Amino acid sequence: MPHVVTQACCGDASCVYACPVNCIHPTPDEPDFGTAEMLYIDPTTCVDCGACVTACPVGAIVPGHRLTDEHHRFLAVNAAHYNPDEFDGEVRFPVDMGKRLPLAPVTTPTPLAAPPQHIAIVGSGPSAMYAADEFLRLPNVSVTVYERLSKPFGLARYGVAPDHTHTRAIMHLFDDIARHPRLKILLNCEIGRDVTLDQLRERHDAVLWAGGAPTDRPLNIPGTDATGFSSATALVGWYNDHPDFADREFDLTTDRVIVIGNGNVALDVARVLTGDADALARTSISRTALDAIGRRGIREVLVVARRGPRQAAFTLPELIGLVESDAHIIVDPADLDGLVAYNITDQLKLEQLREIAARGEQGDGPVIRFAFGLAPEEILTAGGKVTGVRFAKNAVAADGTATPTGETVDIDAGLVLSAIGYHGVPVPGLPFDEKRGVIPNDRGRVMDGDTPVPGVYVTGWIKRGPTGFIGTNKTDSVETIASWRADVEAAASATA
Ligand code: NAP
Repeated sequence: MPHVVTQACCGDASCVYACPVNCIHPTPDEPDFGTAEMLYIDPTTCVDCGACVTACPVGAIVPGHRLTDEHHRFLAVNAAHYNPDEFDGEVRFPVDMGKRLPLAPVTTPTPLAAPPQHIAIVGSGPSAMYAADEFLRLPNVSVTVYERLSKPFGLARYGVAPDHTHTRAIMHLFDDIARHPRLKILLNCEIGRDVTLDQLRERHDAVLWAGGAPTDRPLNIPGTDATGFSSATALVGWYNDHPDFADREFDLTTDRVIVIGNGNVALDVARVLTGDADALARTSISRTALDAIGRRGIREVLVVARRGPRQAAFTLPELIGLVESDAHIIVDPADLDGLVAYNITDQLKLEQLREIAARGEQGDGPVIRFAFGLAPEEILTAGGKVTGVRFAKNAVAADGTATPTGETVDIDAGLVLSAIGYHGVPVPGLPFDEKRGVIPNDRGRVMDGDTPVPGVYVTGWIKRGPTGFIGTNKTDSVETIASWRADVEAAASATA
């Protein structure tokens, strides 16, 4: 039985390079790589050697015969991407080996044709650690990582949900990278407070900014200053023991929580807020959050999207993970009427949603209910506290365009969480694109208009915006370091 990629897939493509028969796709050099929600193993080509299992940093690949009930759906998900009968004759990754795009090459880097380089990396999250790993493949490069917090690894520690233990295991890989003798991590060291960017630039040959997108995209509607309204990312920080959010208070005694937005962050918070307290107690969840969940009054977490099910921002692996958890999910079948899929991932997502809808309402535990076509208009308040949300109803066209119908609906809730995405913050001394929340760059070179800022590079969410998975940062960092290398070698040859 072939191996199968499951929910925790981080997309860093380590498995692709390990596979001797090129059966894992998309590879980083294939067009779908940037948009795929996970990687897939071709069951007809897999030789069951297990090389991918060893390479995967998050334990996401399982031999078919060891698939648990929780993961059995991924057998079909992997296979569907290679089967022309699954979706309109579409085969995402051609089965004929002769026609396949070449395997992403594994290269041993040639030594840097430049004097030894000492690099500063700001931040220690996934993009920073993948970048450090890539720099350290070059024997004459050393790296110092500057981290503001007392513990490293950024969103891998403070952003991944506590019950996603496989995904959190990526920190073992980062621990290994951190042990490299030419890498130093300085904790509790904040740029602008303990050392300035100019000082970093003076002391190092190059500075790589990997500070991520640390704030939330703002929800610009009335009422967001009321008690009981918060960003979902603050709640995530709170239940993950992030020091910036430890003092926050969230009232989980309310009947209903509304989550605005339906990306993977929305699914994470809905799952944790309705999760079994005993099971959560076996995870890394903060004690404060666990106590609050043990005493919760929540009967429903309503996950609300302004567009339709076909435009849902959550990914298929996360939806399957939710379906396979103990969560009691409710979808109104009427929301799915007449919807047609545009590609295989779409089709598989709609199948999952239809299966949920067919189950109807059962049990008496807290439920996660999906609602579609509702745009938040105002946070309703009384005496400075949240009492609900007024939504404008949208008509959603097949292409995803939402048009207000003119009707509104008020829904009661004691806690409202906005999960509408992250946003980068400006770095003093560097250019900033306020709209996108990124530092303008050309393949990782920081750009001031048309001019590169000498010796300063970016990677991760502050480079490309808050999209993708942990492993997406690997290819992103590899691209930036290729730019840095080209610049350093060009400068060295110009002065030779
Ligand atoms: P996201 O995926 O960008 O989803 C944002 C959601 O907010 C969308 O439903 C969007 O709807 C909605 N939205 C945006 N502006 C809105 C507004 N003004 N009013 C109402 N709704 C609005 O954001 P995210 O969930 O924060 O995730 C960020 C990234 O982290 C994603 O790449 C995600 O996959 C990743 N992540 C991954 C995992 C995982 O793999 N387990 C976990 C967490 C996060 P529209 O489409 O209509 O704009």
